[in-house]
Amino acid sequence: MKKYFIYTYGCQMNVHETEKLAGILEEKGYSKAENATDADIIVFNTCCIRESAEQKILGNIGAIKPIKKAKKDLIVAVCGCMAQQKDMAATLRKKFPFINIVFGANNIEYFGEYLDTYLSQRKFLNKVEADKQYSENIASVSCVRDNALYAYVNIMYGCNNFCTYCIVPYVRGREKSRAPEAIYQEVKNLLAMGYKVITLLGQNVNSYGLDGNTDGTNFAKLLETIANFDGDFELRFMTSHPKDLSDEVIEVMAKCPKISKTLHLPVQAGSNKTLKAMNRSYTKEAYLNLIEKIREKMPEITLSTDIIVGFPGETDEDYQQTVDLIKQVRYHNAFIFMYSKRKGTIAEKMENQVPIAVKRERIHNLLEIQHEISEQLFKEMIGKTIRVLLDTENTKEYIGKAQCGKVVKIAKEKPLKVGNFYDIDIIEYNKGNLIGRIN
Ligand code: SF4
Repeated sequence: MKKYFIYTYGCQMNVHETEKLAGILEEKGYSKAENATDADIIVFNTCCIRESAEQKILGNIGAIKPIKKAKKDLIVAVCGCMAQQKDMAATLRKKFPFINIVFGANNIEYFGEYLDTYLSQRKFLNKVEADKQYSENIASVSCVRDNALYAYVNIMYGCNNFCTYCIVPYVRGREKSRAPEAIYQEVKNLLAMGYKVITLLGQNVNSYGLDGNTDGTNFAKLLETIANFDGDFELRFMTSHPKDLSDEVIEVMAKCPKISKTLHLPVQAGSNKTLKAMNRSYTKEAYLNLIEKIREKMPEITLSTDIIVGFPGETDEDYQQTVDLIKQVRYHNAFIFMYSKRKGTIAEKMENQVPIAVKRERIHNLLEIQHEISEQLFKEMIGKTIRVLLDTENTKEYIGKAQCGKVVKIAKEKPLKVGNFYDIDIIEYNKGNLIGRIN
């Protein structure tokens, strides 16, 4: 049997699309290889959100040259966001002449056809289409999921926001919501198959339905309907743009026990001047009001965020406002990045780019501050009882995840079942893990 190996970079959207690529390949009779060396086809499902991601991908593509040399029939395909960029297919082919197929982020569902064409012609295929929008067909592609408990479900594709640093709207196109009935059916099927945590995916899930592609169903209605499905499961979603997180969604989150009390709410910066330059469409004050409202309705909520340091024009004072904001909000987790120029975005051409040494100092400092806050918050969980899904076990302990994503370890004092939720008393915080005991 022929084998495939897929390298995946970037966000949950890409992880889910890799599940679809795997589905297409398995339908064609391929099975998963343990490593790239054993594969007959290697796929790079790429990301271009940061320069560092692109550099890593280019390095990894280059590293398979010896495999291709030893295995002449090996097929190498590159797809996803990085491939979708203007002229990237030609650039990739020039740099790595052994690449056989390149296709864009919005053409995933045609991968099987591209493979057939390549196999019959054995000629380089460039299937990147500029301005190609998603079609509903992508949803019908079957997935091969690595995990039997956690499943992603796309509710929409693309983004309309054009944050000035971000390349996503250029490579993923405009927002397009899936029909609610198709989403409901997909979730019902996953629950019937035994999946326990369903994560609804979109670049900005809060604007679901605002494109007029649904029957009037908005995100709050979609969430509430799914949260009322039968079964013992947890419902999560990402990503939320703060400007579109409505009171209605907060109400639904608070009243539906199956909706996870965790929220990823990217703030990006704490200075209004920087937020404006980023085109984030909210102020620091509006963001903090939103956090207050969320905590009022759900005092138990765990929050996480994304932050960019060193955005063009960011002064020491602007940066200090970001520091103040993370100290004020106290996130359980923050994904902190240095700003990196993305070709074709507005911020690329902005003056006052921040020197790399300053960016490094700021990220280092902010990571330390955030680490301390996270440690304090996880220690504060000692003595609390939280709901945990057990997802693995070893000879000594059961291992699960709290709603905030933190690993929880439970000594095997009595028999529990992997795949079930339990109320766990947190008794310790040790080396980045929560230690619990069955309630
Ligand atoms: S909301 Fe902004 S950061 Fe998020 S994908 Fe859209 S443009 Fe990029």
